[in-house]
Amino acid sequence: MRDYIWAPWRGAYVASWHGGSAAAGKDECVFCTKFNENRDADNFILHRGERTVIIMNLYPYNNGHIMLIPVRHTADFELLTAEETAEMNLYKKLSVSALKKALNPDGFNIGMNLGSAAGAGIAQHLHEHIVPRWNGDTNFMPVLGETRVISEHMQTTYIKIKSCLEKEIVL
Ligand SMILES: [Zn+2]
Repeated sequence: MRDYIWAPWRGAYVASWHGGSAAAGKDECVFCTKFNENRDADNFILHRGERTVIIMNLYPYNNGHIMLIPVRHTADFELLTAEETAEMNLYKKLSVSALKKALNPDGFNIGMNLGSAAGAGIAQHLHEHIVPRWNGDTNFMPVLGETRVISEHMQTTYIKIKSCLEKEIVL
């Protein structure tokens, strides 16, 4: 049985995702669409690097759940270039640092679901999850894929993480 979450921002997102797909091309990628748009705050894009985008997950498993996504549309992790891999790793490190400062979590789950068989919601464009964890936020750690109660509105969290992230990335 699925946990019910109260998430007022989620309804609009689901509507725009599914409603939008009727008009948009069938093969359109939701990540590439956001990257091509010029409204990063609306899309919860935290940072655009040369090869990697840091974005908040609109279906968060926990407060502060973000994703690292290569700019290039690809499903194949093993085919990332050395430069893509390097930037993704650097951003992973800086994101953990920023999340620690912004939200003071007790731990993190970091990982990728490669392919729909592995539970990837958007299998055609790979993405790595960073999920902050707090002691007592759950009794056990499920495979990345469960929804959790979100205690803070996403917009507030976005602003908080973004300001910490900017300090990390501007080196
Ligand atoms: Zn894509």
